[in-house]
Amino acid sequence: MNQREFLKDAFLRYTAITSQSDRHQNFLPTTEGQMILALLLKDELHEMGISDSELQDTGILIAKIPANTKAPALSFMAHLDTVDIGASPDVKAHLIAFTGEDFYLDNDKKILFKTEDYSHILDYKGDDIFVTDGTSVLGADDKAGVTVIMGIAKYFTTHDAPHGDIYLVFVPDEEIGLRGAKALDINKIPVEFSYTIDGSFLGNFNYETFNAASVIIKIEGVSIHPGRAKDVLVNPLLVAQDLIAQFDILDTPENSENYEGYFYFMEMTANPMEAVLDLNVRDFDLKKFDERKEYVHKIIKEIQDKYPRVKITYTMEDVYANIANFLATDRRPIEVVEKAMKNLNITMIRGPLRGGTDGSVLSSKGRMTPNIFTGSHNVHSIFEYLPLSSLEKSLEHALEVVKLIQEDYKS
Ligand SMILES: [Zn+2]
Repeated sequence: MNQREFLKDAFLRYTAITSQSDRHQNFLPTTEGQMILALLLKDELHEMGISDSELQDTGILIAKIPANTKAPALSFMAHLDTVDIGASPDVKAHLIAFTGEDFYLDNDKKILFKTEDYSHILDYKGDDIFVTDGTSVLGADDKAGVTVIMGIAKYFTTHDAPHGDIYLVFVPDEEIGLRGAKALDINKIPVEFSYTIDGSFLGNFNYETFNAASVIIKIEGVSIHPGRAKDVLVNPLLVAQDLIAQFDILDTPENSENYEGYFYFMEMTANPMEAVLDLNVRDFDLKKFDERKEYVHKIIKEIQDKYPRVKITYTMEDVYANIANFLATDRRPIEVVEKAMKNLNITMIRGPLRGGTDGSVLSSKGRMTPNIFTGSHNVHSIFEYLPLSSLEKSLEHALEVVKLIQEDYKS
């Protein structure tokens, strides 16, 4: 079986397993389908001859292809879950030969893919493209990454190519707050080069993500019947409102772009006894990020002083960190990817990611982990699609990365 056939079959096999994550569950993995997929991957790796693998109760699967030369160890990671956008959790992916014309995702339901709405698809005229039947996402995010990593396993178990230890890592529940990566013990993956394969279109490369903190603020007021409230009642809703008003109304997600950070009050629950606020703090720049966190501490203190009869408690937690925070100390993982793309004539398109990746979580744990393209477009949409040629390129690129690390950094 050639590489293209392998990738095609594997992608269809993995997308056929329903593995949408569920934010309402508190255990890992949040859905059984993710464990079923992890078990299948473990079996398939075993059949290829990779027996050094560990599937944890959380659904985290770590497998290792042992080194056959003295090159630095590296890892590739993808996530097992697909996103819940309110469509069907079951994915019925199929491959179409794209002619450049508009086409129906599904002939019965007559859901039309209009090329003028997503004109980037015209770049793939004449190619085979994976699409949905219009009832779900495709889940190329991140089954394409999963497929590429299995392609890496297939390659190194059937070719006699030199490489260091290669760790293949699959984590659950990325789409619901990067929970799988948060549960990952990076000591189990002792590598010098670490990558996620969870980016989008061909050539896409991300290593600039937000630094992120989450703040939960609880304001306990003084409650009493409103008829006897004079000089007694301290309404936590009004204290919460005053607290929010101390933040710049233009320093928000809806008023920022590119490299700008923000404060985002994203949830408020309140009753006469207490108000609870959920605040997200985001910034690319580490210094500005720290200043933002200082500002939150300061405002909470001021509000507490202003309302001595309420009790304010809060937690502030770093949830992920900018991958680029590491650039000053180690550029090698970035340089390898740049060189690999150049060697393969892939035009690199990079830009700040106004969010986080599993790599941003590993970054906060001290491991720089840039994110490489899978080839997908329109993720988190029923119009998500994946050109088979881009999936092939994603695998070729990953293999080139392994080769370059071996050649350039062998001891
Ligand atoms: Zn993803």
